[in-house]
Amino acid sequence: MSALELHDVEVTYERRGRESVRAVAGASLIVERGQIVGLVGESGCGKSSLARAAVGLVKASAGEIHFEGREVAPLTRRARPRELTRLQMVFQNPYSSLNPRRKIGSQIADGGGGGRKRVAELLELVGLPPNAATRFPHQFSGGQRQRIAIARALAADPSVIVLDEPLASLDASAQAQIANLLVNLSRELGLSLLLISHDLAIVRHVADVVSVMYLGVMVETAPTRSLWEVPLHPYTEALIGAVPLADGSGFLPEALPGEVPDPAHPPSGCRFHPRCPYAFERCPRDEPPLLPVTEIRRAACWLQEPGGPPARPAERAAQLGVAARVE
Ligand code: SF4
Repeated sequence: MSALELHDVEVTYERRGRESVRAVAGASLIVERGQIVGLVGESGCGKSSLARAAVGLVKASAGEIHFEGREVAPLTRRARPRELTRLQMVFQNPYSSLNPRRKIGSQIADGGGGGRKRVAELLELVGLPPNAATRFPHQFSGGQRQRIAIARALAADPSVIVLDEPLASLDASAQAQIANLLVNLSRELGLSLLLISHDLAIVRHVADVVSVMYLGVMVETAPTRSLWEVPLHPYTEALIGAVPLADGSGFLPEALPGEVPDPAHPPSGCRFHPRCPYAFERCPRDEPPLLPVTEIRRAACWLQEPGGPPARPAERAAQLGVAARVE
């Protein structure tokens, strides 16, 4: 049994007086026990909606979400079943998720009970001194506040933590420190992490497996190293190629070249086809499913075939006689 499984999840937002938007249009993702999965994509691709659906903060309009084999129902005013409290979430801005008027010791204790000793243990786990418990959120730096938010999530003794852009509001050195902390916590406690980030360098450094999302659907999933060595989907290739530094570090661009489609009116067939340099006649017609190209890699692109051989899009396009579009 996997730690967290999402199958064909859809998230639709109703908009008063306007047509609804399907932010997630049938995305699947698996987080195995002790694994760190990175979820990347441009802003607005649906990754935060998927993360929120994964923990029950928004209702999935279709599909299934299971945490350790148990269905994750949307949160209500009622207390969550105890088993589901072991599925936790950490948000981008720790300051907004902490109460400014309460000492952090009591806020951490709220996460899962336990006395002063337990709070001190949790603070130590995230690299903060025990006396931090007696201070208020404004007395800490951004990086320290994110450590506090992680300690509060750990108080519930979680097996999975979903982190939505946990490093985005931090400076570079705090980002690196928190990224290392997450890896260490995962390895030491056997924690599974689903890390949503637009920072390719962090994801490459931290994640065991990466899922790439485009306009509400998953387009590629692979072990981190093989994804970077040989991206199979043209969108993944474009994301990696758009990063300016040779070592692959850097941020996803706000948008790749080409018009970003309106999620309320996604393109027909392959959603990436208006921006894809290899699009051929089948692409605007049929939507490619996310299929296994190898045992450990999946891609949703008509250039790739189940069973492989896996190859870069340009190579596959040349093999299939598809001319790259020059614009
Ligand atoms: Fe490009 Fe076609 Fe593959 Fe879509 S299916 S990514 S348009 S080659």
